Amino acid sequence: MLKWDGHTHTRFCYHGSDAAQELYIDRAIELGFERYTISEHPPLPAGLVPDKKLFDELAMPPEELPAYMSYVREMKRRYEGQIDITIGLELDYLPGQLDFTERMVEEWQHELEDVVYSVHFLPGAGGIRCIDYMPEDFQRNLLAYYGSMDRLVNEYYDHVEGAIAFAATLPMRTRLGHINLIEKFRTELPEIDEALIRRRLEGILPLLAKSSVGIDVNTAGMRVATCGKPYVPEWFLAECGRLGVSCVYGSDSHKPEHVGFGWDWFQSAMSGKKGDQG
Ligand SMILES: [Zn+2]
Ligand SMILES: [Zn+2]
Repeated sequence: MLKWDGHTHTRFCYHGSDAAQELYIDRAIELGFERYTISEHPPLPAGLVPDKKLFDELAMPPEELPAYMSYVREMKRRYEGQIDITIGLELDYLPGQLDFTERMVEEWQHELEDVVYSVHFLPGAGGIRCIDYMPEDFQRNLLAYYGSMDRLVNEYYDHVEGAIAFAATLPMRTRLGHINLIEKFRTELPEIDEALIRRRLEGILPLLAKSSVGIDVNTAGMRVATCGKPYVPEWFLAECGRLGVSCVYGSDSHKPEHVGFGWDWFQSAMSGKKGDQG
């Protein structure tokens, strides 16, 4: 198996670290990674979420995207022969504003190698809300708005299904980001019906199987105290394997120490052995 970290961030992320890129990549090399995808959050449509301060932390301003692209291009060139750096973005599913993403992809598709396509936003109280911001915000602006976890969970996986359909139209290598992100704050919320999640994921498998969209096997949930597990269950990985859906490990590094986090779990889960960390 190619040792590949397929989901990482940079100093162009305003809720991450301003550490030099070399600290991330040198660590990846030290850990024996052969490929490393840099997948920053690109700019979002102006005023997407009601909270201006949060909006500024979510993504880089539009004028920085060319600088980011040349930053990653330079890393790719500099590390050639040591590790395969691939040029990526973590794009958001933005129903109603898909043309925003289409324009960005069209502009950069000649060099974009990897897209992690994620659902971070759902309609909520007063507008679009972020599902992974803070437990209190989740409760006030999403849970109260939908009235029950079941309704909210169903809305989330409806969005995931829409995201897969759109991602399937993109011309580069694409995978669905952290498919169970809705569980991020689970220990702070009314109990989530695991059977419902399983049912929804089972419904998603055939959509993945008939598209070229893969899965971002995102381990970030293991380092979030309110989640405590990867964002992809092991049984789902096994099913993806059976159906030929590509499964790419993603540390979702927002600082250099995160690089390679949970790789051992991923490796044992992929080999069908029982992982020891969840
Ligand atoms: Zn981020
Ligand atoms: Zn994400």
